[in-house]
Amino acid sequence: MRVLFVSAEVAPFAKVGGLADVAAALPRALADLGVEAAIAMPKYRGVEGKTRLSSVGSISVPVAGEEKTCPILKGELPGGKVPVYFIAHDPYFDRDQVYGEGGGDYPDSLERFALLSRGALVLAGELGVDILHVNDWHTALVPVLVRAGFGPARVKTVLTIHNLAYQGVFPWARRTALGLPESVSSVLKHKGKLNLLKGGILAADLLTTVSPTYAREILERGEGLEEYLRARAGDLVGVLNGVDYSVWDPETDPYLWANYSAEDPSGKAENKRRLQVELGLEPDPRAPLVGMISRLAEQKGFDLVMEAFDRMMALGVQFVLLGTGDPRYEAFFEKAAGRHPKRVAALITFSEEWAHRIEAASDIFLMPSRFEPCGLNQMYSLRYGTVPVVRATGGLADTVREYDPERGGGNGFTFEEYTPEAMLAALRRAVDLYLRDPEVWKRLMLRGMREDHSWETSAREYLKLYQKLAGS
Ligand code: ADP
Repeated sequence: MRVLFVSAEVAPFAKVGGLADVAAALPRALADLGVEAAIAMPKYRGVEGKTRLSSVGSISVPVAGEEKTCPILKGELPGGKVPVYFIAHDPYFDRDQVYGEGGGDYPDSLERFALLSRGALVLAGELGVDILHVNDWHTALVPVLVRAGFGPARVKTVLTIHNLAYQGVFPWARRTALGLPESVSSVLKHKGKLNLLKGGILAADLLTTVSPTYAREILERGEGLEEYLRARAGDLVGVLNGVDYSVWDPETDPYLWANYSAEDPSGKAENKRRLQVELGLEPDPRAPLVGMISRLAEQKGFDLVMEAFDRMMALGVQFVLLGTGDPRYEAFFEKAAGRHPKRVAALITFSEEWAHRIEAASDIFLMPSRFEPCGLNQMYSLRYGTVPVVRATGGLADTVREYDPERGGGNGFTFEEYTPEAMLAALRRAVDLYLRDPEVWKRLMLRGMREDHSWETSAREYLKLYQKLAGS
């Protein structure tokens, strides 16, 4: 089985959110199962420092009315099992950011990702793959092109929707950049606009999304695309993302001040102590430390956090946030840190190192998302002994179960209603237990740490889906 995985982000080469983690971990897990998995992605600025690159020729693809020549460079994912083909086109990809600067997308996003999609088709032909597995709107053009006969004849396409809120919408007039006959581009039309994700939803042989609950939710509330999703409901499968424990495990994590595990969790306290020192928080080992690591986007529930902030602080917590995004939220948290310098820290930046340290140091991880296709940080938190408090939506509902004081089950705290009060009530249950009963808290922590959310099960599920498709 040969699979080419195509993604706009792949960790550690380019990461904005969870897509990057998945686009690295799933191919790696598939390779472990014997699949010949390869990845195609743009050659962004800085990639050369992260893997050894060799030149393997060049391809020519039509975008924006001309044939663009793109050198292809080959590198590999850390671990050495998965080759990565970088498609180079400096005017499009040699930039500071992946998607755009100052909160918006680059104005030529359409052309940039059309080039990635066209390039992936050429590579798929040269590599002789059975399956082209594409991700989100950036590569949703691939199934449309394959169906229209622009790609290798026998290849089957899988489109994974990591987040339906991002659809790749452009003015209809911009379709000329794609150089497609009208009979083909018409599948990309939605509400008078060009909509790449819509085209991919209709054209892909198989659709997947990143959790079973989200797969059900989007048939009801599908960000305007429910009609197409319902039409394809028989070909839509929810497969839960996993955790790459070679990257996210406190026992081996090189970013931590002290390593620890479920067998010996004592090092966790040292991480909390050091974080408090480094960020100038009160050095209090018993203050419940609440962490958040997130894109600062509306989806993630920051309106609730802002509204409830003073009441949350009144619970006696310390709060540490790592994130960048919407300037409104950035300003709020910077100001909050200024108001409570000993109890609130706001790191308004993107930092892999601090993401790992905050996971390890925090007692509680807060994820009050309005919607969450899968969510990775709650699963990382479980492994790091950081008890998740989440809104029960999408993948959060599939991975976090409310603590049950009667029978001692559950692995975190959940709430349903999207209100500050419901969030505060869940947070209060967590803080109360943490302060009142350290022994029970520890058992709750350890239960989460021992859970297995590795990729293996999900990768097997993907492999079965590929086999079914390839055989059909
Ligand atoms: P989403 O894909 O919607 O952003 P996920 O929870 O699926 O949400 O994945 C987010 C990923 O991005 C996690 O690996 C998280 O640690 C990481 N992340 C988000 N913001 C930052 C940041 N400011 N610095 C470092 N890592 C971040």
